[in-house]
Amino acid sequence: YDQLALQSSYLESVGKLAAGIAHEIRNPLTTIKGFIQLVRPYLIDIQKEEYADISLDEIERANKILFQFLNAAKPQKKETRIVSVNKLIEEMALLYEGEASLQGISIKTVPSSDNPSILIDEYQLKAVLVNMMKNAFEAIRASERIQGRICMRTEIRGAHSVISIHDNGCGIPQETIASLFTPFFTTKTTGTGLGLIICKNIIHDFGGDIQIRSRLGEGTTFYIELPLANEYIMHA
Ligand code: ADP
Ligand code: MG
Repeated sequence: YDQLALQSSYLESVGKLAAGIAHEIRNPLTTIKGFIQLVRPYLIDIQKEEYADISLDEIERANKILFQFLNAAKPQKKETRIVSVNKLIEEMALLYEGEASLQGISIKTVPSSDNPSILIDEYQLKAVLVNMMKNAFEAIRASERIQGRICMRTEIRGAHSVISIHDNGCGIPQETIASLFTPFFTTKTTGTGLGLIICKNIIHDFGGDIQIRSRLGEGTTFYIELPLANEYIMHA
C-alpha cells in the first residue's frame, strides 16, 4: 500500500483547492479595479486621486501574487485506470483493521454482486476514502459508543457506482450539513476543515458527486457517486 503516493495526491488536492480559492479571489479584484478606475476622475476634483492610484497598485500586487501562485499550484497529471470498487473497499477495510480493533470498532464491507468498476485515479479515490474513514473514526470517538460500527458498501444506481461509508458515530445536526463542504469548516479542536472539500473536489474531477445522510446521535452515511466505467466507455 503506497502511503507516499496517497500523500502526494492529497497535497495535489490541497494545491487544487488553493488554486480554486485564488481563482475566486481574482474575480472580485477585477471588479474592484474596474470601479476604482471609473471613480478616479471624480477624485481629481478633491485632489484625492492618489488614494485611487494606491488602491490600483495594491490590486495589481495582489493579482501578481495570485498569478504566480496559480502557476505553482497547477495539478499534476492524473493516472486514470479502471478500478473495481469492491476490491477497493476490501483494501480499505484491511488498512483500518488494526486501528479499528484497538478502538473496539467493527468494520463491515457489503460488496455489490454486480462488481461495479469505475475509471479513476485510484490513489486520489483512496485519499477520499482515507479522509472519510478518519472522519468516521472521529465521529465514533466523539459519540463515546461502546460498540462502534463502520460499514462500507458498494451499489449500482442507474449509470453510477455508489460507495457508501456509514458510521454509528455522533451524527451531524441538519442545519450543519450544508456547511460541511465549506473550506475550513470544522467542529473539531484540532480539525483543518479541509478534508471534505478536498474529497468533493476530487470526486467532481471524475464526474461524480457526494451525498450525505445523517441523524444526530445515531450516525452518518456518505455516498460517493461515480460514473460506471462501461457508461464512460459508451459515451467516449
Ligand atoms: P475536519 O475533519 O478537519 O473537521 P472535514 O472537512 O473532514 O474537516 O469535516 C468537516 C466537519 O464535518 C467535521 O468537523 C465534522 O463536524 C463534520 N463531519 C464530517 N464527517 C463526519 C462524520 N462521519 N460524522 C459526523 N460529523 C462529520
Ligand atoms: Mg476530516
